[in-house]
Amino acid sequence: MDHLIDRIPLRFEIYEEGDISIVNLNKLKKYVQETTGIEIFLRGNIYENISMDQVQTIAQKMAQLRIKDPEKEFLNKTPLKGEVTYEEERISDQKWKSFGILYEGILYQKHLADFPLKKKLNERYCSILITNQLVGTWDQNDHRYHIRTSIYGSPHIISVPGLVLAPAKPREFYIKRQMGVPVEILKEEYKGRFLEHGDLRTTEILKGYLIQALFYDLIGNPFCDDSDCRLFNSHWQEEMLHAQLDGKYEFCSKHEALLKKIRNTNKEVQSLKMV
Ligand SMILES: [Zn+2]
Repeated sequence: MDHLIDRIPLRFEIYEEGDISIVNLNKLKKYVQETTGIEIFLRGNIYENISMDQVQTIAQKMAQLRIKDPEKEFLNKTPLKGEVTYEEERISDQKWKSFGILYEGILYQKHLADFPLKKKLNERYCSILITNQLVGTWDQNDHRYHIRTSIYGSPHIISVPGLVLAPAKPREFYIKRQMGVPVEILKEEYKGRFLEHGDLRTTEILKGYLIQALFYDLIGNPFCDDSDCRLFNSHWQEEMLHAQLDGKYEFCSKHEALLKKIRNTNKEVQSLKMV
């Protein structure tokens, strides 16, 4: 257990990428502080204060990480000029919208650590990027890229459109769509059973993903097998909505006990500081 205490991050640092105005960051901040007792800092846009030279370097690399065909494990080695320009514009505009481009998530993470977040990451901080971009990882089993909700590591990446697109919708939704039922009608029929872009439930859902990032740092495993716990690794939209919105409890007894321990440790540290 002492080992766990050594791993408690000194602080959370939250970065933003693109337009994530659907997310209420102050609400998340309050939740994380109350749940963990760890201080949390909102650091704003990841590309704030970067030089023109850096914009070009980052844009060139980002364009290479574009996945053009999810069935090929092949990156965009020599991006087109237009693709690089697109990235330059995206990086320079802090309210950039998402255009559904999928990036190689593991390399994206590494690239963020090497460039915009260089000198900002610290192994004692839980650094999280909340992005409006899509990130995917290659699946060795079915040989294709899959969109991800989150990629934990340094920094942790949590994708807002990933919450909408990565966990699967109800099976019948896809069957009916294949049978030719228009998507708009299906969306109405299955309303509430999956998250949509611009969904007001997004902030509430993100709470669990931030705590997953914390557990990744603490014990190397962000997930839980209990479908009522916010750390449940949801593969279906309905599982995600259940775990994050109407589970029997916030966290299972095992994870709640660990969170309590973290809160108490932080209280002790705070009171020592006061003496
Ligand atoms: Zn749990």
